[in-house]
This record gives sequence, structure tokens and C-alpha cells, in this order.
Amino acid sequence: MFKIGETPTFLTIAMQTKPGYILKGRVIDGTLDDPVEDGAVVLEGERIGWVGPRASLPEHYARSGFETIDLPGRSIMPGLIDGHTHISFGESRSEEENALYTSVEFRTAKALYYAKKVLQAGVTSAFDAATTYNVAQAVRDAIDSGMFPGPRFTVSGKQLTNHQGLEDSFPNEMQFPPGQSAVLVKNKDDLIENIRLQIKDEVDAIKVSGSNDNLITPDALGSSAFTLDEFRIIADETHRLGRLCSVHARSRESALYAAQAGFDNLFHASYIDDEGIDACVKNGCVITPTLTLLVNLLEAKQSSAGVSGASAFARELEAASVNLRRAYEAGVPLICGSESGWSPVPYGQWHAREMEIFVNMLGFTPRQAIHAGTLAATRLLPRYGDQVGKLEAGRLADVLVVPGNPLEDITLLQKPARFDHIFKGGTPVDRTPPAPRRRMWYERTKIFLAGLYEFDEAAGKGRLVP
Ligand SMILES: [Zn+2]
Repeated sequence: MFKIGETPTFLTIAMQTKPGYILKGRVIDGTLDDPVEDGAVVLEGERIGWVGPRASLPEHYARSGFETIDLPGRSIMPGLIDGHTHISFGESRSEEENALYTSVEFRTAKALYYAKKVLQAGVTSAFDAATTYNVAQAVRDAIDSGMFPGPRFTVSGKQLTNHQGLEDSFPNEMQFPPGQSAVLVKNKDDLIENIRLQIKDEVDAIKVSGSNDNLITPDALGSSAFTLDEFRIIADETHRLGRLCSVHARSRESALYAAQAGFDNLFHASYIDDEGIDACVKNGCVITPTLTLLVNLLEAKQSSAGVSGASAFARELEAASVNLRRAYEAGVPLICGSESGWSPVPYGQWHAREMEIFVNMLGFTPRQAIHAGTLAATRLLPRYGDQVGKLEAGRLADVLVVPGNPLEDITLLQKPARFDHIFKGGTPVDRTPPAPRRRMWYERTKIFLAGLYEFDEAAGKGRLVP
């Protein structure tokens, strides 16, 4: 027992533990500056204490009980930021699965399970770009309050959509499903009301479904779901209430209107043209293309049957690679996002692929790609944005140590099992992968049989026709 005012034994032991780590290796700090080949980073408690050339390391660190880790041939860099996740989607295989099946309670349990996988991939911060129910807020807070491991999430709520937007895809005879990761708005007053309701539900950002999506409806990219006037109402009210404003905008018009209305972030923007790019530059909008979903879908289509709309994806990808390069050259920041949460992009596996895609399809250098997945991505993070994304004294010590040099091979960042260290807030992340989970029967779209069991009259027996 101990008396009030006395330091209990267990606390004395805690205070005697080392004050942090001195990492010595190549330092890639998340900016566009040259790396420091012979560098050092001091993790002091939960924050970064010092960064610079090894030879300039202040002497007092050597005397203060820090654990020194020599990392020859390794790179020290900021934890990754994924600019587009859906932590509540549970690797859904279809829109029906996401919108209709599985209780909110089980969805939340799954999301906490998957959040650990995302962190173990080196993603220490993420922007969640639409949630089913209010799962994303709960996951964010469960992690931030220390109950569960996971990245530092900034979350948008349910997307605001209308009859022409992504997510209102069920027949008019049905009620809009409450599990859908969107809310249906019917008029301008409804827009304001739903923004206010979502902010009451503790979202960090408002997300709008500005266009439809080839994923759901082939070639459904004609125009914009909302008018320019409606986009302005959304941006004004969201900004008045101090939140970030973001939009799903695959079509030319939706990207243009959102940029003209002053949205902070455009997702996809595959068909943005010069007018839209000019509006982005003028209003300081960033674009998070999230091409990983399209690339993965096309690859999966090649390796197995059963993915619809592949030609529409290929056309979109081709347009995006031209238009987004133009946007970047014009000065619009591009941010890496993976779309993790749908079955083509399972959690914990593809978070760094967007960097490789930026290099191969958009002509980025690896350094620019790392910047797009670290410091540049803090533009999406009203929470913690000024405290993460860069190796700099005073920021949170969210740090990766990667074998080799990702400035020479950007794909190294896609192999988190080989990372030497992952720190979040100066603490080593538990790297033990969670045991694989079984899918429950009620999570699935209910298909009796994948095809028609036709009667073959000549053969006198049945045959399955997919
Ligand atoms: Zn998404």
C-alpha cells in the first residue's frame, strides 16, 4: 500500500524506464527535401525530440538513457497517412452487403479488429471517407481514448447524397437503407439539416456524393448529382461550423462545381478538366484520386471472372492518368488514398500501393509519392494534422523504419511485415497479426446458387449456367 503524496513502487519503475529512442539511419522526413543519408531521429516520449544529421546530435541525448538503435541500410520516415479508408465497411463484396446486412454492433466489432491491421501496415493516420451508421466515429474515439490499437482517424460521416448520387441505388419502391453509408437529402433545407445533424454526431468532415460511380452503375458519370448552388450551400455551412468539406466527384461537372464552391478535398476527380483544375488552384482544393480501387478491380478481373463494368474502369483510369497529371502540374496537391474497406482493397494490404501508382501512372518521383502519402496528406486531417506526417521536433512520434531505400524502390512500403519498426506516439506497435476471422453467414448477400440450374433436355439432366 502507499500513502497519498508518496510515489507508489510501480510508478517509480515506470519513471525509470528509458525516455525514448535514438534511431540512426537514412532520414526521409516527409517533405520534398533531400534525405539525410547519415541521420538521426530522437523519439522522446510520445513526440519527436530532435531530427538531423547524426554528427549534430546534441550530446545530452547520449547521456540520458535513450535506447540507441543503429539502422544501417534502413530508412526512417513518418508513419503513412491513408487519405481514403472505410473502416466500417468490413471488406464488403457488394453494395447490398454493405447497405443491408450485418448489425451495427457486429460492424463496430469488425471495424476495431480491422483497425489493428491498418496500423500494422504502417498507417498511423487515416481519413475515413464515409461510414455505415456512426461506426467510424466510435472507432476513432475507441482508439484515441486508448482502448484499442489503430491509426489516428479523421472521419466523415455518412455521405450526403440525392437520387442522382452514389448510394441511392436501390429501387424507388424501397426505403433508403439505414445501413447505407449515406443519407438521402431531398432539398436545400435538408442539406443544412443533415450537415448539422452529422456535426452533432461528432464528424470531423462532411462528405458529399457529388456524382455516381462506375462501380455501381456502368458509365454513370454523366453529370453532377448536385447543382453548383447546392455545392455552395454545403461548403458554406460546413465551413461555418468549422469542418472539412469533401466530395466523391468522378464526373467532370461534380469536380468543377465542388472546386468552384470551395470544397477542401475532391476524391477521384478522374474527369476533371482545365476549368476544374483552375478552380482547384484558385480555391486551394486538393485531390485524393484513390486509383488503387480501379487498378485492383481491373487486375482482379484479369485473374478471375465476375467483375462488372471493367471496360468503364479502364476508360476512367486512362482519363484519370492524363487529367490528374495535368492537375498536379498546375499546382493542385494530390494525396494518396487506398479505399480500403471494399473487398478489392482488403485492410492492411494495399495502403501504400497508391504511391506506386502515382509513380507509374502520374509520373511522380518516389519522393513526391512519399510526400503525397505523408506530409501532403495532413491537409485532410483537421485532427492531428499539424502534429503528424513529418519527422520534425515537436510532432507526434509516428515513425516507420523500413529496410532499404523507398526513394529507389517505392514498393518497399507495401511490405509492412518486413518493416524493422513501427512506432505510434513513440511506442512500438504490437506487430502480432490478429488471427484470421471467419465470416458469419449473415454478412453475405444471399445467393441461392451462382447461376441457373437449367434442364438439358438432350442429356436428360440439369447443368449449371453461370
Ligand atoms: Zn470510398
